[in-house]
Amino acid sequence: EERLVSPEETEDERLDRSFEGLRPRTLEEFIGQRKVKENLKVFIEAALKRKEPLDHVLLYGPPGLGKTTLAHIIAREMGANIRLTSGPAIERPGDLAAILTNIKEGDVIFIDEIHRLSHVVEEVLYPAMEDFEIDIIIGKGPSARSIRLELPRFTLVGATTRAGLLTSPLRDRFGMSMRFEFYEPSDLKTIIERSARILGVGLSDDGAMEIARRSRGTPRIANRLLRRIRDFASVDNKKIIDREAVDESLNRLDVDCLGLDGMDRRILKKIAKDFDGGPVGVETLAVTVSEEVETIEDVYEPYLIQIGFINRTPRGRVVTRAAVEHLKKIGEL
Ligand code: ADP
Repeated sequence: EERLVSPEETEDERLDRSFEGLRPRTLEEFIGQRKVKENLKVFIEAALKRKEPLDHVLLYGPPGLGKTTLAHIIAREMGANIRLTSGPAIERPGDLAAILTNIKEGDVIFIDEIHRLSHVVEEVLYPAMEDFEIDIIIGKGPSARSIRLELPRFTLVGATTRAGLLTSPLRDRFGMSMRFEFYEPSDLKTIIERSARILGVGLSDDGAMEIARRSRGTPRIANRLLRRIRDFASVDNKKIIDREAVDESLNRLDVDCLGLDGMDRRILKKIAKDFDGGPVGVETLAVTVSEEVETIEDVYEPYLIQIGFINRTPRGRVVTRAAVEHLKKIGEL
């Protein structure tokens, strides 16, 4: 079952060209993440001036905040091609070698979920990143031998939800590492207004703000909610989506005034009621709500922590007073 407010990309979205059309294409168009943008702008300019490929970049932070989008922008601003792959997709050293030996000078290789690379693949990546060389094994058995290949100089852009999961030799090989933050409602509003323009959706100022407030600081969710709300509006023959229309649609979709859905509230309620507010270990919590630990840590928890509803303590997770008050206010506790 798919979750409406999951920050992760759905299969439908991946295949849907109109979602692709919402991606900003230049650094100028990329809204928010000011620190990331400012730094990157300087590094890109400097690299272009030196006529050298950009140094390897690590992008980290929760899903749906624009890491893949920024990788595309980096390639475009550098006037380079981009190759997209992911940690789990590169199963064997040979898979990586196949990619690295098919690039041109200056190309960008984007590895999503880079913390999931296997150790053997990582070992091949180190000299590739550092010296633009790889050793590949030719032949099998006793006649196998290793030959060293020189590679064109490239830029590796790695993305991960949690930088802490990267091995330190890998982390050390990135020239810069940039942390993505949840977006402010005002930035999300600008993103939503831009998307509405592109999609040809009539949206009022307070309508845009209401979606922004309920999108968990995440552009991917904002775009998804906008499109669902548009569906309701078109069925109801509404030309302009205003705050009331947004509110009505999102209530029907079980997205509350803070953008939390049933699963978020279930997590909060479990800690509050069954564990007396906590602390409860994440493993125990995962079992009680029938979710995987990794999903709780990567998908649900970051936003609940961000808004101050859950605290991580050495002995486990606790719910805060603000969370309890919210649950009471909406009549769930
Ligand atoms: P990530 O790789 O971090 O999971 P993506 O780069 O795939 O996230 O971004 C998810 C969606 O959100 C994109 O399709 C894009 O349309 C939108 N998006 C992300 N960041 C921005 C931004 N700064 N401005 C406008 N839209 C954005």
